[in-house]
Amino acid sequence: MSKFLFNNCKYLVPKAHPESIIENGAVFVDGKTIKEIGSSEELNRKFQIDPEVEIIDCSEKVVLPGLIDSHNHLTTFHHHLPHAVPSEIGGGIEDEMLNQVWPAYLWLTDENSYDLNLWSLMHSLKHGVTTTANAAPFPDATFRAAELSRMRIVMHPLMVTSVRLSDNLDEDGYLSQTEEAIKNYHHALEGLLTVAVHPSWPWNCTRNLLVKGMELAHRYDVQYATHLFEAPDEAKRANALWADRGGALQYLDDIGLLTSRSVFFHASNFNEKEIEKIAERGCVVIHNPECNAGAWNRSVAYIPYCLEAGMTVGLGTDGAPRDMFGQMMLAQYLHNVMPREKVTVDPWMPLEMATGSGAKALWLDNLVGTLEVGKRADIIAIDLVNNTGLEVARKETLFRFLSNGQQGAFVADVMVDGLILRRDHEFTIFDEEAITARVRERFAEFQAWYQIRRKKRKGKPMVDLEHEEFAKV
Ligand SMILES: [Zn+2]
Repeated sequence: MSKFLFNNCKYLVPKAHPESIIENGAVFVDGKTIKEIGSSEELNRKFQIDPEVEIIDCSEKVVLPGLIDSHNHLTTFHHHLPHAVPSEIGGGIEDEMLNQVWPAYLWLTDENSYDLNLWSLMHSLKHGVTTTANAAPFPDATFRAAELSRMRIVMHPLMVTSVRLSDNLDEDGYLSQTEEAIKNYHHALEGLLTVAVHPSWPWNCTRNLLVKGMELAHRYDVQYATHLFEAPDEAKRANALWADRGGALQYLDDIGLLTSRSVFFHASNFNEKEIEKIAERGCVVIHNPECNAGAWNRSVAYIPYCLEAGMTVGLGTDGAPRDMFGQMMLAQYLHNVMPREKVTVDPWMPLEMATGSGAKALWLDNLVGTLEVGKRADIIAIDLVNNTGLEVARKETLFRFLSNGQQGAFVADVMVDGLILRRDHEFTIFDEEAITARVRERFAEFQAWYQIRRKKRKGKPMVDLEHEEFAKV
């Protein structure tokens, strides 16, 4: 166990709220836990003379809770997916999945997933992320990556029945794999790893899988996370299909999917009434603004209204490698250009979505999300030296500058669970060179594999559908 003092912090932000900023503050960490927070003067007197305490000088740094990426796919690398230009994506989200995303999943193995997980985690850590929720197949690969990285991970083992992926699992296979992952990995690695049930979307899973998945979540008292209403065409088809049931959301409610353990990624195409219903049921929404502003989604969750309705909103990248500071910027500004009545997202709110609310969204708020005595020490420090985007910020303008999308690369120090994983811009655990070299090889393998498959398919979709979308059984 080690002791650390984050000392002389120019700005210490224990919580994402303007009133919480402390100038010249300090944080004392003993083992995994934050033991004291206060003024540098006071904590210096107590701890600076203790030879066992390692001092981290933060006189030119902003110190914050570690960022929480509440929805990512660590094995999905968007810049290596084959779509060249957005205009090639014509058929909405199903077309995008069949031709772009699922083929990448068809190539994944346990081994290459491990490499991709590590590379993606390395990128996240470099940009201030201490907790990542990973929606991906091959849960054992996620476990091994979590074990090596020592980052906090929420595992969302992918389940899908409309296509057969390289894990070659059917409905029963996915349910047993998820149950095994919960038994083996929930609260593993001294609590760094947790697991939730994850059917990928209601439109590409059988109703049976959706309902049995929720039974699993109830049985093991874990969350139930799924994409929902990510794209306009998905929402339109779902509402048309269940028009006689009062619309898609009413149908999902009828089959028991709207609960306080439900986590919905995106939720981009709901109106005010639907948002109120989701809020009433205690469901959580994860906002993924970059992905939603992309070519096939073109719709963004009505976050100002979700917040007004009292909903817990987390923030996610929805794919690697993206920067949570970029998501914060979009979460602040994107709503200003949406044609909706309420547009205000105050400058501190995106950081709250990426810290306190993100922790609450993933049932981790008893451990992380704020810097508080008794909580786990997940802490980041942003360098102000040569940081032209932030160095002139004042206390009054700090949140605006933190959320302006420029800060990720300036994260100098990252601590997770009391362990320093990055110090003065250098990794302490990751071998960046070796991981990058391996992943370059993997990408070359993927490109070669993709070209061969494309030829073999002779113009057909890259992946066959196993059953109709919105399957009933
Ligand atoms: Zn996603």
